[in-house]
Amino acid sequence: MEMPSNDRGLTRRGFVTQAGLLAGAPFLSSKLFAGLEDSKKLGVALVGLGSYANSELRPALLRHTQLCRLAGVVTGSARKGKAWSHHYGFPDSAVYSYDEMDRLADNPDIDIVYVVTPNALHAEHCMRAARAGKHVICEKPFTVSVAEADQVIGACRKAGVQLSLGYRLHFDPYHQVLRDMAAAAPLDPFKQMNGAFSFVLQGSPWRASRALAGGGPLMDLGVYLIQEACMATAEQAPIAVTARELPKQRPEQFVDIEETIEWTMEFPGGALCRARTSYNESANEFRADATKRWFEIGPAFTYRNLAASTHDGPLQFPEVNQQALQMDDFARGILQGTPSRVDGDMGRRDMKVIEAIYRAARTGQRELVN
Ligand code: NAD
Repeated sequence: MEMPSNDRGLTRRGFVTQAGLLAGAPFLSSKLFAGLEDSKKLGVALVGLGSYANSELRPALLRHTQLCRLAGVVTGSARKGKAWSHHYGFPDSAVYSYDEMDRLADNPDIDIVYVVTPNALHAEHCMRAARAGKHVICEKPFTVSVAEADQVIGACRKAGVQLSLGYRLHFDPYHQVLRDMAAAAPLDPFKQMNGAFSFVLQGSPWRASRALAGGGPLMDLGVYLIQEACMATAEQAPIAVTARELPKQRPEQFVDIEETIEWTMEFPGGALCRARTSYNESANEFRADATKRWFEIGPAFTYRNLAASTHDGPLQFPEVNQQALQMDDFARGILQGTPSRVDGDMGRRDMKVIEAIYRAARTGQRELVN
């Protein structure tokens, strides 16, 4: 079913296509920064209505996004899906079960599919969304292996749809300072970095299952430290890693995943990042030192109340909604025909690093990231 035409005789879908062709047109850019009226916003379907989708992405789409809106869901619970459609203003016909994902192809009201299921299901759900002709946002970690990342990237290319990751920190002003500092002074680059991100895992059984999570806290939380270190080196990729898994305090809970792991990443030019993540500790911080400059953040990786300082003093920014900025940036890229700045290649880079870290923990050797 096609959407009603707007006053210039364009359907909303037609607008999306034409807007892509008009990439870079100044009138379009200024309109996009001001936000779109509801009928022209890109429709987003959330896949998996668990904790992150419900507590962060739903409110972001209902209250904060300027360029996209909640338009459907894919869920294992028809009852939950119906409750969402009634409360959040989309038709019952936009509620799909996982088995019905292919039918998304018939819904022109949905432009973007946002995959928020357990890690090991990301690849399948992303590929099904791509085959249905929808642009894809995949939560972190991208997949559970480089091989799967390649499959998803290939499926999106084949379908001619855009792919983006749920890397929300790229859109946060505090982390933007780190990126800007990395870009601004290549003659005094960050050389030493330290970071930790950990929480005490209670509940969330799939997170402690290798089959569904692909690994332990390294997959879930360590990916933030990899991201942050890459931001601090102007998006270079680590060339080698060493790693050590620590003895388990709760072996009965973490049977086939690591409980705590620490690792060092070596970057081209010699910068080093020492990092640690655990499901049995609390930590949320990152620091980068150059010769004359430094950046420190903590709380670093959570959604709100971040605090950061540099050698120039404390930073102070108004609170933002990271998820809304991230989704709007992707929507803007789709409308303008430009790729996401947190795309599948970036997700693939991080999967390569994660695989190398697990390899190094197993062998006890320095492992190249290749
Ligand atoms: P969750 O357990 O709360 O939700 C998972 C959802 O997947 C549930 O709705 C569940 O019903 C559904 N699901 C479908 N098939 C399933 C299966 N076979 N087993 C278990 N659940 C199944 O998890 P969450 O915390 O919302 O995390 C979901 C994804 O989002 C993960 O990949 C996680 O890494 C990511 N995440 C990202 C952020 C972020 O800040 N970017 C924060 C939290 C979670």
